[in-house]
Amino acid sequence: MRSLLVLGGGTAGTTLINKMRRLLPREEWSITVVEPRREHHYQPGYLFIPFGAYSPDEVTKPESNFIPRGVESLTAEVERVVPEQNQVMLTDGTILGYDQLVIATGTTPRPDQTPGMYGPEWRKSVFDFYTLEGATALKEALAAFPGGRLVVHITEMPIKCPVAPLEFTFLADAYFADRDMRDQVEIVYVTPLDGAFTKPIAAEHLGGMLDERKILVETDFYVEQIDNDAKTLVSYDEREIPFDLLVTVPLNMGADFVARSGLGDELNYVRVDPGTFLSRDWDNIFAVGDASDIPTSKAGSVAHFAVDVFADNFLHHIRGEAMPVRFDGHANCFVESGNGKGMLIDFNYDTQPLPGKYPIPRVGPFSLLEETGMNHYGKLMFKWIYWNALLPGRHLPLPALMSMAGKKVPESQHERGGSL
Ligand SMILES: Cc1cc2nc3c(=O)[nH]c(=O)nc-3n(C[C@H](O)[C@H](O)[C@H](O)COP(=O)(O)OP(=O)(O)OC[C@H]3O[C@@H](n4cnc5c(N)ncnc54)[C@H](O)[C@@H]3O)c2cc1C
Repeated sequence: MRSLLVLGGGTAGTTLINKMRRLLPREEWSITVVEPRREHHYQPGYLFIPFGAYSPDEVTKPESNFIPRGVESLTAEVERVVPEQNQVMLTDGTILGYDQLVIATGTTPRPDQTPGMYGPEWRKSVFDFYTLEGATALKEALAAFPGGRLVVHITEMPIKCPVAPLEFTFLADAYFADRDMRDQVEIVYVTPLDGAFTKPIAAEHLGGMLDERKILVETDFYVEQIDNDAKTLVSYDEREIPFDLLVTVPLNMGADFVARSGLGDELNYVRVDPGTFLSRDWDNIFAVGDASDIPTSKAGSVAHFAVDVFADNFLHHIRGEAMPVRFDGHANCFVESGNGKGMLIDFNYDTQPLPGKYPIPRVGPFSLLEETGMNHYGKLMFKWIYWNALLPGRHLPLPALMSMAGKKVPESQHERGGSL
């Protein structure tokens, strides 16, 4: 009997155990997943909670609903991996052995890493929406906001769902307009990037959408500290941005045990081959989803495509064969833009988001880099797909690797995609 041990039962870990339980014979392989939370969170739903569009119970379900028969589930936290001994130590002292290990422990917002962020103003005038608690607290703060300066801020890249702060900004614009108080709210978007987004064509579109909504943009802003008394963001180059309400995306980091185990980079992301997710140091350790250091968006869509590629490759790997498929960094993200519309971007390591139709060339129904009502419905539909098809590891008719079919390449834009 051989063992597959999966650390983390979030989007990637849960999808993976469901797929692998179907693919690996039960008499030959045991599968175990370690996850401290008893509830599974649909994180894309956090975006809508501050605006009252989703309630917290719509974005959580018992983790046990998604554990297939034949998978052992441990409600526990990982303390350390000891790769030399093929062992994982849990914080309760349990030691687990493995033949093959998958790290799927994601990335976590860390307000403790920026001086003053976790200070006296935390959850008074400084909020996040990257946690369920933060998004829920922010709902009250937005409802009570009398007007003034709303600053939406990204601490440092990479963050999971890099378009979410833009979506929050667009939704805040629509929310205050609906309440007839948009003229009393100044919205400022503060980013460490040199534009609204990293990829040139998408940055132009998204930057234009911020301009249309009269949202001020402060670029290249690397926060050094938050001054709680003055309610001001202070950057390393000594710029100061005052706020009445700050909605920040704290530094995102991989799990601390990754560093303790000597497997990570400076932000605790596991160093892997970006084509196969195999550790650069160990040939029986993989990392999928946000936990890895692959240079594409940290997103649920990437976790899904990555698990599809991993599943095929893994069957070869355990037979000692070369892994036949190389992941291309395929990501797609719906960008909610307010007033019942949304945009869709689809890209990979080499190709930046381009205009066109998705997933069926020339038909869609979704439009790339264009604001449409259909894209908004796609975003809303995704919650149902997530609970009912994606997590249970069912086949979705979306190719794991990006396709150029249906995409229009503007004459002057043949440059490479770059990373997020
Ligand atoms: C506000 C917001 C909006 C988003 N919107 C979108 C979107 O529209 N589209 C999209 O594709 N993606 C979106 N995402 C991103 C998406 O949710 C993540 O990229 C996706 O969940 C990544 O899956 P994962 O399994 O790698 O990580 P996660 O789903 O975060 O799972 C990691 C799991 O590991 C567990 N874990 C952590 N540490 C340990 C430990 N020490 N021991 C054991 N277990 C541990 C955690 O409890 C967690 O359950 C959004 C995210 C946020 C926050």
